[in-house]
Amino acid sequence: MSIRKRITLVAGARPNFMKIAPIVHAIIKDGSMDYRIVHTGQHYDKVMSDTFFEELNIPKPDANLGCGGGSQAEQTAKIMMAFEQDLMLNETDLVVVVGDVTSTMACTIAAEKLHVKVAHVEAGIRSYDMTMPEEVNRMVTDSIADYYFTTTEEAKALLESKRVPSSKVFFVGNVMIDTLMTNYDRLCKPDFYDKMNLKQGEYLVMTMHRPNNVDNIVHFDLMLKEICENADGLPIIFPIHPRTAKMMTEGGMHIQNLHLVEPLGYLEFNYLVRNSKAVVTDSGGVTEETTVMGVPCMTLRDNTERPETCTVGTNELIGTNPANIAPAMKRLMRGEWKKGGIPEKWDGKAAERIVAVLKTLVE
Ligand code: UDP
Repeated sequence: MSIRKRITLVAGARPNFMKIAPIVHAIIKDGSMDYRIVHTGQHYDKVMSDTFFEELNIPKPDANLGCGGGSQAEQTAKIMMAFEQDLMLNETDLVVVVGDVTSTMACTIAAEKLHVKVAHVEAGIRSYDMTMPEEVNRMVTDSIADYYFTTTEEAKALLESKRVPSSKVFFVGNVMIDTLMTNYDRLCKPDFYDKMNLKQGEYLVMTMHRPNNVDNIVHFDLMLKEICENADGLPIIFPIHPRTAKMMTEGGMHIQNLHLVEPLGYLEFNYLVRNSKAVVTDSGGVTEETTVMGVPCMTLRDNTERPETCTVGTNELIGTNPANIAPAMKRLMRGEWKKGGIPEKWDGKAAERIVAVLKTLVE
């Protein structure tokens, strides 16, 4: 009699939920392995966590480690301690971590120290910017994990250049795009859309939450002013990340065409993006979604760990200098943005490919 193998899937923060959803669904569809979902509690409230489980039909987590809040080091330590306990009580054949949040790194360390194998989904991407907490998370995770699933051929090559054996690296495509494709026809209008009289192609969407952009209030205010003043009066909808909300000044909140809204659910947010004229962002995941939806995307960062969104997709790095914003906004408003294509294997089947490999890894 063969014993069923068990995968433990880790998720902690908003950008993890859309990545685990298709993997869980593919494991369920395949039916040959058992799984547990461990939520570390890094993001814990309704708008940053629960909504995604409901909207994306992710089964309720089997464990919630309740490790929200604290500094980077405190959070890492809390998650490591709690996940170690969880793994000691619940036998698992393989841990799957996704993305680049603190939970990704902390759970990888805890599992490896218990000699439990780890597979990293979205491995091998680098911004080479060590001031980003995510870059540290990526580098640590990729230096100790056992198996690697990549979104691009370049990410696979990067890992191989770090002497990871190619037999452990699998170029499978992008699970974020699986989620987008699965839910494309379910995307739904936010409540405020009609109330605000928003019209297709006549508004912008903005998301900003990276410490480099929002932690210096003077700089952040200047960026907001440049974006809003150069938008030809179009409304800019800004679902505001809790981290950014803490930093907003009265000045920023009262710019006439800037509309602050709560963080949105996945279906509403991507409805808004799909129908917008363009997106201004410092998010990584959003640049992948705009690429696939063909929506012009202006990224206010000096680097990206997702270069394919620029070389193939609709994304352009404008940098963080406020002086760069007006010329880019003018091009955007004139409709002179580049048209993009879709990177290889961003086809909605990444999770299927991952599960086909996972089965061979736990055999
Ligand atoms: N997102 C969302 N609601 C929002 C803003 C973003 O559902 O109000 C989704 C977005 O579609 C993408 C993900 O959140 O799937 C990106 O998360 P985030 O920007 O927090 O992380 P990053 O990708 O920068 O790591």
